[in-house]
Amino acid sequence: MGLISNAVKPQKVKKFLYSELIPGSVNSGRFVRTFDVVIVGGGVCGAFLGYCLAKQGLQPVVFDCRNSGNTNCGGFISNLALKKFSLLEGFLSLEHRNDNEYHLISPSGKKVVFRTESNKKFVSFLPDNLNRYLLDSAIRCGCKFIPEKVVDIYSEKGLWKIKTDFRTTRARIIVGADGVRSLVRKTVCEPLSREDLSIGFGYLVKGFPEKRFIKRFLKNRTGYLRINDLGKCSSIGLVDKLCNSEGLKAELDIIIKQESHRLRPFRKWSTLIPSPQNADFFKQSCTGKNWLLAGDAAGHVNFLTGDSLLYALWSAELAAQAIIIGDLRLFDSLWKQEFGDELIKAALNRKLFENRNLLETLIAAAQSSNTLSDILFQFFAGDERIGEVKKRFLVKLPKIFLESTVLSLPGKIKNCF
Ligand SMILES: Cc1cc2nc3c(=O)[nH]c(=O)nc-3n(C[C@H](O)[C@H](O)[C@H](O)COP(=O)(O)OP(=O)(O)OC[C@H]3O[C@@H](n4cnc5c(N)ncnc54)[C@H](O)[C@@H]3O)c2cc1C
Repeated sequence: MGLISNAVKPQKVKKFLYSELIPGSVNSGRFVRTFDVVIVGGGVCGAFLGYCLAKQGLQPVVFDCRNSGNTNCGGFISNLALKKFSLLEGFLSLEHRNDNEYHLISPSGKKVVFRTESNKKFVSFLPDNLNRYLLDSAIRCGCKFIPEKVVDIYSEKGLWKIKTDFRTTRARIIVGADGVRSLVRKTVCEPLSREDLSIGFGYLVKGFPEKRFIKRFLKNRTGYLRINDLGKCSSIGLVDKLCNSEGLKAELDIIIKQESHRLRPFRKWSTLIPSPQNADFFKQSCTGKNWLLAGDAAGHVNFLTGDSLLYALWSAELAAQAIIIGDLRLFDSLWKQEFGDELIKAALNRKLFENRNLLETLIAAAQSSNTLSDILFQFFAGDERIGEVKKRFLVKLPKIFLESTVLSLPGKIKNCF
Protein backbone atom coordinates (compact mmCIF):
# COMPACT_ATOMS: atom_id res chain seq x y z
CA MET A 1 0.00 0.00 0.00
CA GLY A 2 1.15 3.53 -0.70
CA LEU A 3 3.57 5.30 1.53
CA ILE A 4 1.91 8.63 0.97
CA SER A 5 -1.63 8.76 -0.31
CA ASN A 6 -3.33 6.95 2.53
CA ALA A 7 -1.35 8.60 5.25
CA VAL A 8 -2.56 12.13 4.61
CA LYS A 9 -5.71 13.79 3.41
CA PRO A 10 -5.89 17.31 2.05
CA GLN A 11 -8.35 19.75 3.52
CA LYS A 12 -11.48 20.55 1.60
CA VAL A 13 -10.78 23.33 -0.85
CA LYS A 14 -13.32 26.13 -1.12
CA LYS A 15 -11.51 28.31 -3.60
CA PHE A 16 -9.37 27.19 -6.50
CA LEU A 17 -5.91 28.67 -6.00
CA TYR A 18 -4.34 27.75 -9.26
CA SER A 19 -7.02 29.25 -11.46
CA GLU A 20 -6.18 32.69 -10.03
CA LEU A 21 -2.73 32.55 -11.58
CA ILE A 22 -1.95 33.89 -15.02
CA PRO A 23 1.03 33.05 -17.25
CA GLY A 24 4.10 35.10 -16.45
CA SER A 25 2.68 36.21 -13.11
CA VAL A 26 4.80 33.94 -10.91
CA ASN A 27 8.17 35.62 -10.21
CA SER A 28 9.22 35.65 -13.80
CA GLY A 29 12.41 37.50 -12.72
CA ARG A 30 15.60 37.76 -14.72
CA PHE A 31 17.56 35.10 -12.81
CA VAL A 32 17.57 31.48 -13.85
CA ARG A 33 16.61 29.52 -10.77
CA THR A 34 17.54 25.93 -10.03
CA PHE A 35 14.99 23.59 -8.48
CA ASP A 36 15.38 20.02 -7.28
CA VAL A 37 12.29 18.66 -9.03
CA VAL A 38 10.36 20.16 -11.93
CA ILE A 39 7.19 18.39 -13.01
CA VAL A 40 6.02 19.22 -16.52
CA GLY A 41 2.25 18.73 -16.57
CA GLY A 42 -0.23 19.40 -13.78
CA GLY A 43 -2.87 16.87 -14.82
CA VAL A 44 -4.06 14.26 -12.34
CA CYS A 45 -0.64 12.60 -12.31
CA GLY A 46 1.55 15.71 -12.07
CA ALA A 47 -0.69 17.43 -9.53
CA PHE A 48 -0.82 14.36 -7.30
CA LEU A 49 2.94 13.91 -7.56
CA GLY A 50 3.40 17.58 -6.61
CA TYR A 51 1.11 17.01 -3.64
CA CYS A 52 2.91 13.83 -2.50
CA LEU A 53 6.35 15.49 -2.71
CA ALA A 54 5.29 18.74 -1.04
CA LYS A 55 3.61 16.77 1.74
CA GLN A 56 7.00 15.16 2.44
CA GLY A 57 8.74 18.54 2.70
CA LEU A 58 10.14 18.87 -0.84
CA GLN A 59 9.42 21.96 -2.93
CA PRO A 60 8.49 20.67 -6.38
CA VAL A 61 7.56 22.99 -9.22
CA VAL A 62 4.69 22.12 -11.55
CA PHE A 63 4.34 23.71 -15.00
CA ASP A 64 0.99 23.43 -16.78
CA CYS A 65 -0.48 25.40 -19.64
CA ARG A 66 -4.00 24.00 -19.51
CA ASN A 67 -6.89 26.45 -19.59
CA SER A 68 -9.33 25.26 -17.00
CA GLY A 69 -12.52 23.71 -18.22
CA ASN A 70 -11.47 22.89 -21.77
CA THR A 71 -10.69 19.21 -21.44
CA ASN A 72 -11.68 15.94 -19.92
CA CYS A 73 -15.30 15.12 -20.12
CA GLY A 74 -16.78 12.27 -18.22
CA GLY A 75 -14.48 10.63 -15.77
CA PHE A 76 -15.41 7.22 -14.48
CA ILE A 77 -13.38 5.92 -11.59
CA SER A 78 -13.14 2.30 -10.48
CA ASN A 79 -13.86 1.08 -6.99
CA LEU A 80 -10.27 -0.18 -6.98
CA ALA A 81 -9.00 3.41 -7.31
CA LEU A 82 -11.41 4.65 -4.64
CA LYS A 83 -10.25 1.92 -2.27
CA LYS A 84 -6.58 2.61 -2.91
CA PHE A 85 -6.56 6.40 -2.73
CA SER A 86 -8.37 7.64 0.32
CA LEU A 87 -7.46 11.15 -0.85
CA LEU A 88 -10.24 10.85 -3.43
CA GLU A 89 -12.80 10.77 -0.62
CA GLY A 90 -12.14 14.45 0.06
CA PHE A 91 -12.86 15.35 -3.55
CA LEU A 92 -15.86 13.09 -3.92
CA SER A 93 -17.41 14.56 -0.80
CA LEU A 94 -17.47 17.85 -2.76
CA GLU A 95 -18.59 16.61 -6.14
CA HIS A 96 -19.55 13.37 -7.82
CA ARG A 97 -22.38 11.39 -9.39
CA ASN A 98 -23.01 7.81 -8.58
CA ASP A 99 -25.31 5.09 -9.70
CA ASN A 100 -25.62 1.39 -9.13
CA GLU A 101 -26.27 0.35 -12.73
CA TYR A 102 -23.80 -0.38 -15.51
CA HIS A 103 -25.00 -1.45 -18.96
CA LEU A 104 -22.87 -3.60 -21.23
CA ILE A 105 -24.14 -3.98 -24.80
CA SER A 106 -22.90 -6.49 -27.37
CA PRO A 107 -22.09 -5.57 -31.01
CA SER A 108 -25.49 -6.90 -32.12
CA GLY A 109 -27.32 -5.02 -29.36
CA LYS A 110 -27.76 -7.64 -26.63
CA LYS A 111 -27.69 -5.94 -23.30
CA VAL A 112 -26.82 -7.00 -19.80
CA VAL A 113 -27.37 -4.73 -16.82
CA PHE A 114 -25.18 -4.99 -13.75
CA ARG A 115 -26.53 -3.81 -10.47
CA THR A 116 -24.09 -3.34 -7.62
CA GLU A 117 -24.67 -4.09 -3.98
CA SER A 118 -25.94 -1.10 -2.06
CA ASN A 119 -22.51 -0.24 -0.62
CA LYS A 120 -20.82 -0.17 -4.04
CA LYS A 121 -21.52 2.47 -6.68
CA PHE A 122 -20.23 3.52 -10.06
CA VAL A 123 -18.72 6.91 -9.51
CA SER A 124 -18.30 9.60 -12.15
CA PHE A 125 -17.19 13.24 -12.10
CA LEU A 126 -15.45 15.82 -14.26
CA PRO A 127 -11.75 14.89 -14.24
CA ASP A 128 -10.96 18.56 -14.73
CA ASN A 129 -12.42 19.27 -11.31
CA LEU A 130 -10.42 16.45 -9.72
CA ASN A 131 -7.41 18.01 -11.37
CA ARG A 132 -8.08 21.42 -9.82
CA TYR A 133 -8.66 19.82 -6.45
CA LEU A 134 -5.33 17.98 -6.58
CA LEU A 135 -3.44 21.05 -7.81
CA ASP A 136 -4.87 23.18 -5.06
CA SER A 137 -4.05 20.52 -2.48
CA ALA A 138 -0.47 20.46 -3.82
CA ILE A 139 -0.15 24.28 -3.74
CA ARG A 140 -1.47 24.37 -0.19
CA CYS A 141 1.24 21.90 0.83
CA GLY A 142 4.00 24.08 -0.63
CA CYS A 143 4.22 22.95 -4.25
CA LYS A 144 5.01 25.83 -6.62
CA PHE A 145 2.68 26.06 -9.62
CA ILE A 146 3.62 27.96 -12.77
CA PRO A 147 0.76 28.26 -15.28
CA GLU A 148 2.96 28.24 -18.39
CA LYS A 149 3.60 25.98 -21.33
CA VAL A 150 7.03 24.39 -21.48
CA VAL A 151 8.32 24.97 -25.01
CA ASP A 152 11.79 23.49 -24.82
CA ILE A 153 13.79 21.18 -22.60
CA TYR A 154 17.47 20.35 -22.83
CA SER A 155 20.26 19.07 -20.68
CA GLU A 156 23.29 21.26 -19.87
CA LYS A 157 26.12 20.49 -17.46
CA GLY A 158 24.11 17.79 -15.73
CA LEU A 159 21.07 20.01 -15.18
CA TRP A 160 17.82 20.32 -17.12
CA LYS A 161 16.95 23.65 -18.68
CA ILE A 162 13.21 24.14 -19.00
CA LYS A 163 12.01 27.02 -21.15
CA THR A 164 8.65 28.72 -21.31
CA ASP A 165 7.79 31.98 -23.10
CA PHE A 166 8.40 33.82 -19.84
CA ARG A 167 11.39 32.17 -18.16
CA THR A 168 14.11 29.56 -18.17
CA THR A 169 14.32 27.29 -15.16
CA ARG A 170 16.97 24.78 -14.16
CA ALA A 171 16.18 21.47 -12.54
CA ARG A 172 18.15 18.57 -11.11
CA ILE A 173 15.30 16.16 -11.84
CA ILE A 174 12.64 16.49 -14.51
CA VAL A 175 9.36 14.56 -14.43
CA GLY A 176 7.27 14.14 -17.56
CA ALA A 177 3.65 14.09 -16.43
CA ASP A 178 2.67 15.98 -19.56
CA GLY A 179 0.24 13.45 -20.97
CA VAL A 180 0.01 11.49 -24.15
CA ARG A 181 1.92 14.00 -26.33
CA SER A 182 4.64 14.42 -23.72
CA LEU A 183 7.43 16.84 -24.62
CA VAL A 184 9.57 15.33 -21.87
CA ARG A 185 9.08 11.87 -23.38
CA LYS A 186 10.13 13.20 -26.79
CA THR A 187 13.24 14.69 -25.19
CA VAL A 188 14.38 11.68 -23.16
CA CYS A 189 13.23 8.80 -25.40
CA GLU A 190 10.78 8.03 -28.22
CA PRO A 191 7.26 9.52 -28.37
CA LEU A 192 4.35 7.07 -28.19
CA SER A 193 3.94 5.50 -31.62
CA ARG A 194 0.73 5.72 -33.66
CA GLU A 195 0.19 2.00 -33.06
CA ASP A 196 0.21 2.59 -29.31
CA LEU A 197 -2.53 5.22 -29.39
CA SER A 198 -6.31 5.23 -29.45
CA ILE A 199 -8.56 8.16 -30.07
CA GLY A 200 -11.85 9.22 -28.57
CA PHE A 201 -14.44 11.68 -29.96
CA GLY A 202 -17.38 12.72 -27.95
CA TYR A 203 -19.96 15.25 -26.85
CA LEU A 204 -21.43 16.44 -23.64
CA VAL A 205 -25.15 16.06 -24.12
CA LYS A 206 -28.30 17.07 -22.36
CA GLY A 207 -31.51 15.09 -22.49
CA PHE A 208 -30.20 11.60 -22.06
CA PRO A 209 -33.27 10.02 -20.53
CA GLU A 210 -31.81 7.44 -18.20
CA LYS A 211 -29.08 8.27 -15.76
CA ARG A 212 -26.66 5.44 -16.33
CA PHE A 213 -23.25 4.17 -17.42
CA ILE A 214 -23.16 2.37 -20.75
CA LYS A 215 -20.42 0.58 -22.71
CA ARG A 216 -21.48 -0.66 -26.13
CA PHE A 217 -19.16 -2.66 -28.37
CA LEU A 218 -19.41 -1.86 -32.06
CA LYS A 219 -19.90 -4.27 -34.95
CA ASN A 220 -17.27 -3.00 -37.37
CA ARG A 221 -14.81 -1.55 -34.93
CA THR A 222 -12.43 -2.77 -32.28
CA GLY A 223 -13.48 0.07 -29.98
CA TYR A 224 -16.66 1.00 -28.17
CA LEU A 225 -19.30 3.62 -27.49
CA ARG A 226 -19.28 4.94 -23.95
CA ILE A 227 -21.88 6.96 -22.10
CA ASN A 228 -21.23 8.35 -18.63
CA ASP A 229 -23.84 10.05 -16.55
CA LEU A 230 -22.43 13.30 -15.13
CA GLY A 231 -25.46 14.53 -13.26
CA LYS A 232 -26.60 17.65 -15.12
CA CYS A 233 -25.46 16.15 -18.44
CA SER A 234 -24.00 12.98 -19.94
CA SER A 235 -20.83 12.35 -21.89
CA ILE A 236 -21.17 10.21 -25.01
CA GLY A 237 -18.10 9.16 -27.00
CA LEU A 238 -16.64 6.67 -29.44
CA VAL A 239 -13.19 5.23 -28.86
CA ASP A 240 -11.05 3.20 -31.26
CA LYS A 241 -7.42 2.61 -32.21
CA LEU A 242 -5.88 5.63 -33.93
CA CYS A 243 -4.97 3.54 -36.97
CA ASN A 244 -8.62 2.45 -37.19
CA SER A 245 -10.16 5.85 -36.58
CA GLU A 246 -11.36 6.75 -40.06
CA GLY A 247 -15.03 7.68 -39.98
CA LEU A 248 -15.18 7.54 -36.19
CA LYS A 249 -16.55 11.04 -35.73
CA ALA A 250 -19.06 10.62 -38.58
CA GLU A 251 -20.27 7.40 -36.97
CA LEU A 252 -20.82 9.14 -33.65
CA ASP A 253 -22.64 11.99 -35.38
CA ILE A 254 -25.02 9.46 -36.98
CA ILE A 255 -25.73 7.87 -33.59
CA ILE A 256 -26.41 11.30 -32.09
CA LYS A 257 -28.62 12.25 -35.05
CA GLN A 258 -30.65 9.06 -34.66
CA GLU A 259 -31.25 10.06 -31.05
CA SER A 260 -31.63 13.75 -31.82
CA HIS A 261 -35.18 13.89 -30.53
CA ARG A 262 -33.77 13.41 -27.05
CA LEU A 263 -30.05 14.24 -27.14
CA ARG A 264 -28.83 17.85 -27.24
CA PRO A 265 -25.03 18.02 -27.67
CA PHE A 266 -23.52 21.23 -26.36
CA ARG A 267 -19.77 20.63 -26.19
CA LYS A 268 -17.36 18.49 -28.23
CA TRP A 269 -14.34 16.72 -26.87
CA SER A 270 -11.60 14.62 -28.38
CA THR A 271 -8.65 12.89 -26.85
CA LEU A 272 -5.71 10.64 -27.57
CA ILE A 273 -5.37 7.71 -25.21
CA PRO A 274 -2.23 5.63 -24.73
CA SER A 275 -3.15 2.03 -25.52
CA PRO A 276 0.00 -0.02 -26.06
CA GLN A 277 -0.64 -2.98 -28.37
CA ASN A 278 2.37 -4.98 -27.42
CA ALA A 279 3.19 -6.33 -23.97
CA ASP A 280 6.88 -5.52 -24.63
CA PHE A 281 5.99 -1.83 -24.35
CA PHE A 282 5.74 -2.30 -20.58
CA LYS A 283 9.23 -3.77 -20.40
CA GLN A 284 10.66 -0.37 -21.34
CA SER A 285 12.19 1.86 -18.71
CA CYS A 286 10.39 4.99 -17.51
CA THR A 287 13.37 6.51 -15.74
CA GLY A 288 16.93 7.65 -16.26
CA LYS A 289 19.51 9.12 -13.88
CA ASN A 290 17.71 12.46 -13.64
CA TRP A 291 14.37 12.00 -15.44
CA LEU A 292 11.17 10.10 -14.95
CA LEU A 293 7.97 9.60 -16.94
CA ALA A 294 4.64 9.00 -15.21
CA GLY A 295 0.90 8.70 -15.98
CA ASP A 296 -0.18 8.96 -19.62
CA ALA A 297 3.31 10.13 -20.63
CA ALA A 298 4.62 6.76 -19.48
CA GLY A 299 1.75 4.92 -21.21
CA HIS A 300 0.42 3.75 -17.83
CA VAL A 301 -3.14 3.05 -18.92
CA ASN A 302 -5.25 -0.08 -18.90
CA PHE A 303 -7.03 0.25 -22.21
CA LEU A 304 -9.30 -2.76 -21.57
CA THR A 305 -10.95 -1.16 -18.57
CA GLY A 306 -10.36 2.49 -19.54
CA ASP A 307 -9.15 3.06 -16.00
CA SER A 308 -6.45 5.66 -16.55
CA LEU A 309 -7.06 7.77 -13.47
CA LEU A 310 -6.11 4.85 -11.23
CA TYR A 311 -2.77 4.45 -13.00
CA ALA A 312 -2.12 8.21 -13.19
CA LEU A 313 -2.44 8.39 -9.40
CA TRP A 314 -0.59 5.13 -8.79
CA SER A 315 2.26 6.18 -11.07
CA ALA A 316 2.53 9.50 -9.23
CA GLU A 317 2.58 7.86 -5.83
CA LEU A 318 5.39 5.47 -6.77
CA ALA A 319 7.35 8.23 -8.54
CA ALA A 320 7.18 10.26 -5.32
CA GLN A 321 8.56 7.33 -3.33
CA ALA A 322 11.53 6.98 -5.70
CA ILE A 323 12.24 10.75 -5.68
CA ILE A 324 12.03 10.98 -1.89
CA ILE A 325 14.39 8.01 -1.45
CA GLY A 326 16.72 9.63 -4.01
CA ASP A 327 16.89 6.69 -6.40
CA LEU A 328 14.87 7.34 -9.58
CA ARG A 329 15.62 3.85 -10.95
CA LEU A 330 13.55 2.50 -8.07
CA PHE A 331 10.45 3.84 -9.84
CA ASP A 332 10.85 1.25 -12.61
CA SER A 333 11.01 -1.64 -10.14
CA LEU A 334 8.08 -0.24 -8.15
CA TRP A 335 5.60 0.26 -11.00
CA LYS A 336 6.57 -3.00 -12.70
CA GLN A 337 6.08 -4.82 -9.41
CA GLU A 338 2.81 -3.12 -8.41
CA PHE A 339 0.90 -2.77 -11.70
CA GLY A 340 3.21 -3.59 -14.64
CA ASP A 341 1.98 -7.16 -14.72
CA GLU A 342 -1.64 -5.98 -14.93
CA LEU A 343 -0.88 -3.69 -17.88
CA ILE A 344 0.99 -6.52 -19.64
CA LYS A 345 -2.01 -8.82 -19.13
CA ALA A 346 -4.32 -6.11 -20.51
CA ALA A 347 -2.14 -5.83 -23.65
CA LEU A 348 -2.00 -9.61 -24.05
CA ASN A 349 -5.77 -10.00 -23.64
CA ARG A 350 -6.62 -7.12 -25.92
CA LYS A 351 -6.94 -9.27 -29.04
CA LEU A 352 -9.34 -11.55 -27.17
CA PHE A 353 -11.70 -8.66 -26.47
CA GLU A 354 -11.45 -7.35 -30.00
CA ASN A 355 -13.05 -10.60 -31.07
CA ARG A 356 -16.67 -9.55 -31.61
CA ASN A 357 -17.95 -13.16 -31.64
CA LEU A 358 -16.50 -13.81 -28.22
CA LEU A 359 -18.05 -10.62 -26.83
CA GLU A 360 -21.38 -11.52 -28.39
CA THR A 361 -21.31 -14.99 -26.80
CA LEU A 362 -20.21 -13.71 -23.40
CA ILE A 363 -22.83 -10.97 -23.22
CA ALA A 364 -25.57 -13.30 -24.49
CA ALA A 365 -24.63 -15.85 -21.82
CA ALA A 366 -24.45 -13.11 -19.17
CA GLN A 367 -28.07 -12.20 -19.93
CA SER A 368 -29.12 -15.36 -18.19
CA SER A 369 -26.17 -15.98 -15.87
CA ASN A 370 -25.88 -13.65 -12.91
CA THR A 371 -22.52 -15.20 -12.10
CA LEU A 372 -21.08 -14.33 -15.51
CA SER A 373 -22.68 -10.90 -15.54
CA ASP A 374 -21.00 -10.16 -12.20
CA ILE A 375 -17.62 -11.37 -13.49
CA LEU A 376 -17.88 -9.30 -16.69
CA PHE A 377 -18.76 -6.24 -14.69
CA GLN A 378 -15.76 -6.66 -12.37
CA PHE A 379 -13.61 -6.90 -15.46
CA PHE A 380 -14.93 -3.99 -17.52
CA ALA A 381 -15.31 -1.64 -14.58
CA GLY A 382 -11.71 -2.37 -13.56
CA ASP A 383 -12.74 -3.43 -10.07
CA GLU A 384 -10.72 -6.62 -10.03
CA ARG A 385 -7.36 -7.62 -11.48
CA ILE A 386 -7.43 -9.52 -14.78
CA GLY A 387 -5.78 -12.63 -13.28
CA GLU A 388 -8.37 -12.79 -10.48
CA VAL A 389 -11.26 -12.32 -12.92
CA LYS A 390 -9.94 -15.12 -15.14
CA LYS A 391 -9.48 -17.44 -12.15
CA ARG A 392 -13.00 -16.77 -10.94
CA PHE A 393 -14.35 -17.33 -14.45
CA LEU A 394 -12.71 -20.77 -14.66
CA VAL A 395 -13.83 -21.82 -11.17
CA LYS A 396 -17.41 -20.72 -11.85
CA LEU A 397 -17.60 -22.09 -15.40
CA PRO A 398 -19.88 -25.06 -14.51
CA LYS A 399 -22.26 -22.70 -12.65
CA ILE A 400 -22.23 -20.22 -15.57
CA PHE A 401 -22.99 -23.03 -17.99
CA LEU A 402 -25.89 -24.22 -15.83
CA GLU A 403 -27.35 -20.73 -15.41
CA SER A 404 -27.07 -19.80 -19.06
CA THR A 405 -28.57 -23.04 -20.36
CA VAL A 406 -30.74 -24.99 -17.91
CA LEU A 407 -31.76 -22.22 -15.50
CA SER A 408 -31.97 -19.45 -18.09
CA LEU A 409 -33.58 -16.44 -16.37
CA PRO A 410 -36.15 -14.63 -18.50
CA GLY A 411 -36.69 -10.88 -18.39
CA LYS A 412 -33.09 -9.63 -18.52
CA ILE A 413 -33.23 -8.64 -22.18
CA LYS A 414 -34.21 -5.02 -22.61
CA ASN A 415 -34.26 -2.53 -25.42
CA CYS A 416 -30.88 -1.09 -26.24
CA PHE A 417 -29.72 2.45 -26.55
C1 LIG B 1 -12.28 13.23 -22.59
C2 LIG B 1 -11.57 12.35 -21.63
C3 LIG B 1 -12.29 11.42 -20.90
C4 LIG B 1 -11.64 10.58 -20.01
N1 LIG B 1 -12.36 9.70 -19.27
C5 LIG B 1 -11.73 8.92 -18.36
C6 LIG B 1 -12.45 8.04 -17.52
O1 LIG B 1 -13.66 7.95 -17.59
N2 LIG B 1 -11.78 7.31 -16.62
C7 LIG B 1 -10.44 7.37 -16.50
O2 LIG B 1 -9.87 6.69 -15.65
N3 LIG B 1 -9.72 8.20 -17.29
C8 LIG B 1 -10.34 8.96 -18.21
N4 LIG B 1 -9.62 9.82 -19.00
C9 LIG B 1 -8.17 9.78 -18.95
C10 LIG B 1 -7.60 10.45 -17.77
O3 LIG B 1 -8.17 11.71 -17.54
C11 LIG B 1 -6.11 10.58 -18.05
O4 LIG B 1 -5.61 9.37 -18.54
C12 LIG B 1 -5.41 10.82 -16.80
O5 LIG B 1 -5.86 12.02 -16.31
C13 LIG B 1 -3.90 10.87 -17.05
O6 LIG B 1 -3.37 11.86 -16.31
P1 LIG B 1 -1.99 12.54 -16.66
O7 LIG B 1 -1.83 13.56 -15.59
O8 LIG B 1 -0.96 11.52 -16.86
O9 LIG B 1 -2.19 13.22 -18.08
P2 LIG B 1 -3.15 14.43 -18.48
O10 LIG B 1 -4.40 14.39 -17.68
O11 LIG B 1 -3.23 14.41 -19.94
O12 LIG B 1 -2.34 15.72 -18.00
C14 LIG B 1 -1.22 16.21 -18.72
C15 LIG B 1 -1.07 17.66 -18.37
O13 LIG B 1 0.13 18.15 -18.94
C16 LIG B 1 -0.08 19.45 -19.43
N5 LIG B 1 0.93 19.69 -20.47
C17 LIG B 1 1.11 19.01 -21.62
N6 LIG B 1 2.16 19.52 -22.31
C18 LIG B 1 2.64 20.55 -21.56
C19 LIG B 1 3.69 21.47 -21.74
N7 LIG B 1 4.50 21.45 -22.82
N8 LIG B 1 3.90 22.41 -20.78
C20 LIG B 1 3.11 22.46 -19.68
N9 LIG B 1 2.09 21.60 -19.46
C21 LIG B 1 1.87 20.65 -20.38
C22 LIG B 1 -1.50 19.43 -19.98
O14 LIG B 1 -2.04 20.74 -20.01
C23 LIG B 1 -2.19 18.53 -18.96
O15 LIG B 1 -2.79 19.27 -17.92
C24 LIG B 1 -10.25 10.68 -19.87
C25 LIG B 1 -9.51 11.62 -20.60
C26 LIG B 1 -10.18 12.45 -21.46
C27 LIG B 1 -9.38 13.50 -22.20
